Amino acid sequence: MLAKIEELLQEVDSLTAGNAEELEALRIKYLSKKGVINALMADFRNVPAEQKKEVGMKLNELKNRMQERIAALKETFESQDNGTAELDLTRTAYPIELGTRHPLNIVRNEIISIFNRLGFTIADGPEVEDDWHVFSSMNFAEDHPARDMQDTFFIESHPDIILRTHTSSVQSRVMEVSQPPIRVICPGRVYRNEAISYRAHCFFHQVEGLYIDKNVSFTDLKQVLLQFAQEMFGPETKIRLRPSYFPFTEPSAEMDISCDICGGEGCAFCKYTGWVEILGCGMVDPAVLEANGIDSKVYTGYAFGMGVERITNLKYKVKDLRMFSENDTRFLKEFESAN
Ligand SMILES: [Zn+2]
Repeated sequence: MLAKIEELLQEVDSLTAGNAEELEALRIKYLSKKGVINALMADFRNVPAEQKKEVGMKLNELKNRMQERIAALKETFESQDNGTAELDLTRTAYPIELGTRHPLNIVRNEIISIFNRLGFTIADGPEVEDDWHVFSSMNFAEDHPARDMQDTFFIESHPDIILRTHTSSVQSRVMEVSQPPIRVICPGRVYRNEAISYRAHCFFHQVEGLYIDKNVSFTDLKQVLLQFAQEMFGPETKIRLRPSYFPFTEPSAEMDISCDICGGEGCAFCKYTGWVEILGCGMVDPAVLEANGIDSKVYTGYAFGMGVERITNLKYKVKDLRMFSENDTRFLKEFESAN
C-alpha cells in the first residue's frame, strides 16, 4: 500500500489536462467517491497497526497534493482567455444594477410637463449671477430689508458676483431680450446661506413661472395655479390664496392647497389647519417690468415660484431634506416605481 501511495505521489506533478473535460476526468479518477484515493482510504483499515501512522500521513499528503494540483490546473483554464466556443457575448460581465431617476427630477419633470401643456416654455440661466439680475432688476432696493431676508453667498472680493438666491434672475434675463407675450417657466438650482438641517439646506431647487401680455389679470393667475394644483395633487385639490409680500410682485400672495392626508379636516401634517403652503405668487410689479425694458402701461403679468423639494415632500412625505443630496441608494431606490 505504501508503495502504491509513493507511486501516485510521483505522478501528481506530471498530471496535465488539455481542456475542461480532461480535467474533470482526472478529478473523477483521483478525487471522486469511487476514485483511487478513496479506495486507498477504504483499504486503510487493513493496514497493520504499527504502520498506520506512516501510511496515514502519506495518504493525507497524497490527498492534499492531488487537490492542490487539480485546483491549480483549473485555475490555468479559468485565467486563460482562449476564446473557445464557451464564450458568451450576451452575458453581463457582472451584475449591473439599474438606476432610478432622482425624486427631485421626477417631480421637476412633472411640474414642467404640466406647465408645458399650459403653453409655458422652459427658460434657463446661469447659477453664478450678478446683483442686477438677482436683486436690482427684481425691484430689491439697495437697502431693502428683503436683501437681508435672503442670506446670499457673495464673493468677498467682488460682491457684485453672487450665487442666485432664486430663479427670478432667469425671468429678468428673458425680459431683457424679448417682448411680450412672454410665457416661461424657469426650473433651476438656487443657493442660500443657511445652516443645513432636516428642513433647510444651502441649495435647493425652484420652478418659477412668468406670463406677460396685454390684459393679464389675477384671475388668469388663479386659474393656472388651480389647474396646476389639481394636476399635481389630484382633481379634488382646492387652493387658497393669502395676501403676502414680495418685492417683485404687487399684489402678492402665498398659495395653500387642501391637505391631501386629511382632506381638509385637519391633521398633524397640516398642523390641524386643513391647508399646506406650496408656493408664492402675484402680479408682476410695474417697476420690475420697467426695469427690464417692458412698457408697464401696455402690459401686465403674473409670476409664481415654488420649491421643488417642498412639492416633493408633499407628494412623497420625505421628512428630511438632507436625504435628497446624500446619494444613499437605499433612499433613491424607494422611487423606482415613480419613474
Ligand atoms: Zn391634514
